[in-house]
Amino acid sequence: MGKTESVGQIESLKSRIGSEEIVRAVRVQSTVRGAIESYLRKEGYVEISPVILSTLTDPLNHPVYDPSITAYNQKLALTKSMIFHKQIAVQAIPGIFIMSPNIRLETEDKASTGRHLYEFTQADVEARGKSMDDMMDLAERMIVFTIEEVRKNNASDLEFFSRRIAVPGRPFRRIRYRDAYERYGSDFERRISEESKEPVWITGIPLEGREFYDLEDPDDPGYLRDMDLLWPEGYQEAISGGEREFKYERILQRIKIKKQEPESFRTILEMSMSGLEPSCGFGIGIERFTRYLCGLKHCADTNLFPRIPGQPGI
Ligand code: ASP
Ligand code: MG
Repeated sequence: MGKTESVGQIESLKSRIGSEEIVRAVRVQSTVRGAIESYLRKEGYVEISPVILSTLTDPLNHPVYDPSITAYNQKLALTKSMIFHKQIAVQAIPGIFIMSPNIRLETEDKASTGRHLYEFTQADVEARGKSMDDMMDLAERMIVFTIEEVRKNNASDLEFFSRRIAVPGRPFRRIRYRDAYERYGSDFERRISEESKEPVWITGIPLEGREFYDLEDPDDPGYLRDMDLLWPEGYQEAISGGEREFKYERILQRIKIKKQEPESFRTILEMSMSGLEPSCGFGIGIERFTRYLCGLKHCADTNLFPRIPGQPGI
């Protein structure tokens, strides 16, 4: 790195450290983390440790650069999500969660969406034998509790940001993907989020719109038993989740439809061969949650050391 670049980085670090906005957002984020963790524990969920390096990670449904390291003569990917570890972990423990750091080297054009960081944390939750409805209910209660905690513990921070966040009413509104598309067109996520005052679920996403691991709806072929939650006021994606494919033949077939390499998913394929119990789960982005609560332009402003696509971090 040239001297000027490094001076620039130190200056920008100093201005972040000195920014009241960022410090307050970090404080709100700390409440968000604590509330999610304590709510899930109270519901009987067990926190497991994050996995950072693995032969197995989320293929994702959009292009990212793919970082890996070589260790012990093996290629180890940096975790994009612990989706498969979740599916495996619930075979041992019925309900689990991870405050999971994910590396997704998004392309540079994502720098200005406000929603993308190339290192972020999601609270990643999974439960054995649960349905979409069960997990949507859990997510709603967890979000309501978290918002109540932030309102209680961070009143002065919310005031600083001029944010009046109402506790959303339950159940949250639900729209099927097909209906959303028909009514609002291809940009429905943004449009629904912008016109909403409370979070909204999108359910039944088409098969090609998601990764291979979400379950194809047996009653609605071509569509998945999965759900996204949108934050209101234009803040867009909060959660993605779903019931999972758990049968060997189905997983293999779905990998092939995606034209992905079965060898890359050998561990989950072999585990499914000896029988996986069905499960359902979701991931909720911590920085996006904080961004919405504080009304920030960019997720980067929830973090002293942000990772903005295309830009090196400290
Ligand atoms: N953790 C998953 C993801 O990052 C979300 C899920 O559980 O479906 O895509
Ligand atoms: Mg996913």
